[in-house]
Amino acid sequence: MYKLVCVHCGAEYPPDAIVYNCEKCGHLLAVKYDLSKITITHEELLKRPISLWRYKEFLPVKIEPVTLQEGGTPLYHLKRLGEEMGLTNLYAKHEGMNPSGSFKDRGMTLGVSMAKQLGKNIVACASTGNTSASMAVYAAKANMPAIVLLPAGHVALGKVAQALMHGAKVISIRGNFDRALEMVHELCLSHGIYLLNSINPYRLEGQKTIGFEIVDQLGCVPDRIVLPVGNAGNISAVYKGLCEWKEIGYIDRLPKMTAIQAEGAAPVVAAIKGNLSEVVVEQNPETVASAIRIGAPVNAEKALRAIRETGGTAESVTDAEILAMQRDLARYEGIGVEPASAASVAGIRKMAAMGLLDKDEKIVCVVTGHLLKDPESVIKQCAPPIEIDPTIEALLAVL
Ligand SMILES: [Zn+2]
Ligand SMILES: [Zn+2]
Repeated sequence: MYKLVCVHCGAEYPPDAIVYNCEKCGHLLAVKYDLSKITITHEELLKRPISLWRYKEFLPVKIEPVTLQEGGTPLYHLKRLGEEMGLTNLYAKHEGMNPSGSFKDRGMTLGVSMAKQLGKNIVACASTGNTSASMAVYAAKANMPAIVLLPAGHVALGKVAQALMHGAKVISIRGNFDRALEMVHELCLSHGIYLLNSINPYRLEGQKTIGFEIVDQLGCVPDRIVLPVGNAGNISAVYKGLCEWKEIGYIDRLPKMTAIQAEGAAPVVAAIKGNLSEVVVEQNPETVASAIRIGAPVNAEKALRAIRETGGTAESVTDAEILAMQRDLARYEGIGVEPASAASVAGIRKMAAMGLLDKDEKIVCVVTGHLLKDPESVIKQCAPPIEIDPTIEALLAVL
């Protein structure tokens, strides 16, 4: 069994409460389990196929879940890029290999299942893209209407395409993501619609399984887990899950949680480097990495704690560094990701060059979304195909 607990003041709410922010202090809620009731051993879990639902004892869903077989994504050893950076144990967890092509599916299988469990029948979210694509997919599977608010002109084409094709009602707001989030929050509270933004405590429960899978695939706790940070939900979630595993005794230490942000949208980096207790909102976040173009990270409070309590760090990278890494992952490792995803590995390249990493450190970078999510950013970077007359001579002339 579990309850909802305020991360700030500790106020508690029962599992069937539909509440997103603490009614006493306004801060976020987290799902808290009675871990003493979980009796399954880690060895027993390891006998199940690797997938998000391997870890169901650590999840709040009690009904038959709305699932499309998410999780169980590949963990790749980055041999060539690691060599270039002088790192022998550099890995990438490719979350783009989930059903809708991003890690958001872990949160949405949970979120839509919980909507059903709580008796809700319409779901909504504001999104920089991947959240809406994923919510549309799982709402379709659950036969639930879905409402999506997007910041106009700021969402990658592949993601809008998904939300539309899977049947969500897609609405473009002439404003930024942060405004879209405020609007959808208000809509949900006033109209009984179930809110599936990352303030929803259950989505993070799904996302925490990234950390579980990393430990299981690597066969140990890595020294460092590196995540691209926008709304800061993922880094908070992975940290929360691993804390649960430490408490229950599956693992005996935590990895250094490391946040990478784009230079134009880096409030978490500023807070860590400036030793601030809270993030200062970035009013005009700007970066090519649209999935992390967020100035007011909803989960900042949890993320700062995750970084500080594990001796981790935060670093920013330029758009040029992000795009260079997107190309290098594609060309040296065969891993196709969208720009935001490449931020984690780009951050490690920068930290390695600064001499901040040990060469044998076991480092896992989470790459969050698939290359095809953002075809426009790819076309802008690569030369177009060479067009020739249909003759062998012409073909040989251009090779
Ligand atoms: Zn607080
Ligand atoms: Zn509170």
